[in-house]
Amino acid sequence: MVPRIAMVLVLVVGLMAGGCSWRDAMLRPQVESPPIAPVPDERPLTAPAHEATAGPEVGPSVAPPPPAPPAPAPRLMPRDVVVGHSVDGVPLVLHVFGEGTGGTLIIGGIHGNEPTSAELAEYLIMDLMTQADPWSGPPLAILPRANPDGLARGTRTNARGVDVNRNFAAANWRFRKTGGAQWGGNHPESEPETRAILGAMYLTVPARIVSIHSIGGGRQCNNFDGPAQVLAQAMCAANGYPVVATLGVCHGSLGNWAGVDRSVPIITLELPRDQPGPDAWQQNREALFVAIRAEVPAVASAWHTGEETDAPAEGPASPLGLRDATGGQR
Ligand SMILES: [Zn+2]
Repeated sequence: MVPRIAMVLVLVVGLMAGGCSWRDAMLRPQVESPPIAPVPDERPLTAPAHEATAGPEVGPSVAPPPPAPPAPAPRLMPRDVVVGHSVDGVPLVLHVFGEGTGGTLIIGGIHGNEPTSAELAEYLIMDLMTQADPWSGPPLAILPRANPDGLARGTRTNARGVDVNRNFAAANWRFRKTGGAQWGGNHPESEPETRAILGAMYLTVPARIVSIHSIGGGRQCNNFDGPAQVLAQAMCAANGYPVVATLGVCHGSLGNWAGVDRSVPIITLELPRDQPGPDAWQQNREALFVAIRAEVPAVASAWHTGEETDAPAEGPASPLGLRDATGGQR
């Protein structure tokens, strides 16, 4: 709790200073814990009564300092779960709002050359943390920086040159020539970022997934895989982006792994590539809430149809009880 409160204090101080926006604060890696304030000495400054008569060694009574004002409590703090580490060792942090499974999983920054996708996810986190009423809707989990090494380098791929969104063990995964922009790795799930994303899914068992990307050439859209056309249409009504059933064959993509192979509704939200983050947030806030409020009923997915998929080797334990929830079948 102390690091979380300290983090909020850092954000509040940033806002008060005016020279550093909260977004800047959010965009900094959150993996370093701020220094913990020293624990105040709780011994009384005045001697207890039975010592007051002990002799001249007792000094004059000193008034205790006024108590420090309580730290401003955030309206809602997500639970942070480290679902894995990047090739360079950066923690991949999943921010979980609400309890239970079957909600929405939002993923940003899987392609490092699409930083607006991470920014949009972080805007959503901050929005949820500062709403007047704490989030009480369906469970929601946000992984804003799925490829932190790529984001740091400005590359589509991760630190090993693998396109994480071509590294899922979808039925259509194909080996591609090493070094290409869409190299899917030497084998599916070879990358720690891929396994971390899978870990996030195994933890949350989402009823729907929104994976945020960006695209050039005016091709922004609500692309969908699996039974997500109705959700795409609802998001279209909010952000104005067209509904697109396919962006071409994407071997080993998350959309294929979750949507096509497992019938988990998934939206690949393609933002305009050059749009500044604040504009993307303004344009897509309502569209994201359409997804997370679950106003569009989730279509029964294939999560529980008995299709066997081993949990990722480096994935986290299952504090949300996934294995129990699925009868040990996942
Ligand atoms: Zn992308």
